[in-house]
Amino acid sequence: MARVFNFSAGPAVLPEEVLKTAAEEMLDYKGCGMSVMELSHRGKEFKGIIENAETDLRQIMQIPQNYKVLFLQGGASLQFAMVPLNLMKKSKKADYVHTGQWSKKAIAEAKRFGRVNIVASSEKDNFTYIPELYPETFSKDADYFYIVTNNTIYGTVYKKIPFTGNVPLVADMSSNILSEEIDVSKFALIFAGAQKNIGPAGVTIVIIREDLIGDLSPEVPALLSYKTHAETESMYNTPPCYAIYIAGLVFKWIKNKGGVKEICRINQQKAKILYDYIDNSKLFKSPVQPESRSIMNVPFVTGSESLDAKFIDEASKRGLKTLKGHRSVGGMRASIYNAMPVDGVRSLVDFMREFEKNNI
Ligand SMILES: *Cc1c(COP(=O)(O)O)cnc(C)c1O
Repeated sequence: MARVFNFSAGPAVLPEEVLKTAAEEMLDYKGCGMSVMELSHRGKEFKGIIENAETDLRQIMQIPQNYKVLFLQGGASLQFAMVPLNLMKKSKKADYVHTGQWSKKAIAEAKRFGRVNIVASSEKDNFTYIPELYPETFSKDADYFYIVTNNTIYGTVYKKIPFTGNVPLVADMSSNILSEEIDVSKFALIFAGAQKNIGPAGVTIVIIREDLIGDLSPEVPALLSYKTHAETESMYNTPPCYAIYIAGLVFKWIKNKGGVKEICRINQQKAKILYDYIDNSKLFKSPVQPESRSIMNVPFVTGSESLDAKFIDEASKRGLKTLKGHRSVGGMRASIYNAMPVDGVRSLVDFMREFEKNNI
């Protein structure tokens, strides 16, 4: 058996230790003679799984008591609609920062429910940076303020979280949750699809401050209301049990590694190895402005489409997989999420160095 280094943006690499535990427990989960997939979601074994997952997530993110943790379905994309549906209640206005494809989709959904004010955008420069924010342009009476903390496609990240005063701050953290320590209390709602830094696709984590959970108009389906999920501990209907189980193993893995602080130290080390090489390379360059660079998703280009294609092809033959960039940026993208070992990044840089020597 040969494991490759998988640089996919998502679904993405999972920790090998987690996959091994899942394999060991596949046929017989802790002596109950069934796999986790076959357990009743109302039974005591699964209850233990979901409760431990929540407890560990609360611990590694230091989530304050007045926040609910929800395990939902529908991906991050359903949150693009659930956020405005649940939170656009008073002024029916919201502020959005436009930093790429994911904010674009979120803005389009929000417009179904109310007025969207785009406070800043980096669209004219193909989203190669996080735009400067000017608080005087924020709407004082907005129902919330929305950001995408890490832009998976463009490889940008906020180095400073905007301060929005009394306006609740909502963040799509799908591609950088658990990659660095954050102060949850600065946010009113955080959501993340699992398939980047948490686990398999199928579960979406929502961390929501309790005062934002309220009644919606009667025609809103129960499943689209945060209140439904908060009141039923994410058990209104059958939750994505297996995805929650793997997410729980990942949270435990992070805990055992020394927590998010230690994971972040390793992430920074990995990112530095890659950016240092790119910045000194005569062949590869980063399209992202240095002050906005993500430590999770690292796009790079040669400037020649045919060389990019050759690189991706040869890298793949060396077991360095899924390096093709998103079509809107081109070139390559290395996603180096929590589960990507330092050795994976070293192997990539070794190969880039060799490729540069042979192709310049
Ligand atoms: C992947 C991603 C999404 C979309 O996630 P789905 O689970 O496929 O809906 C949204 N936002 C960001 C930042 C992402 O990286």
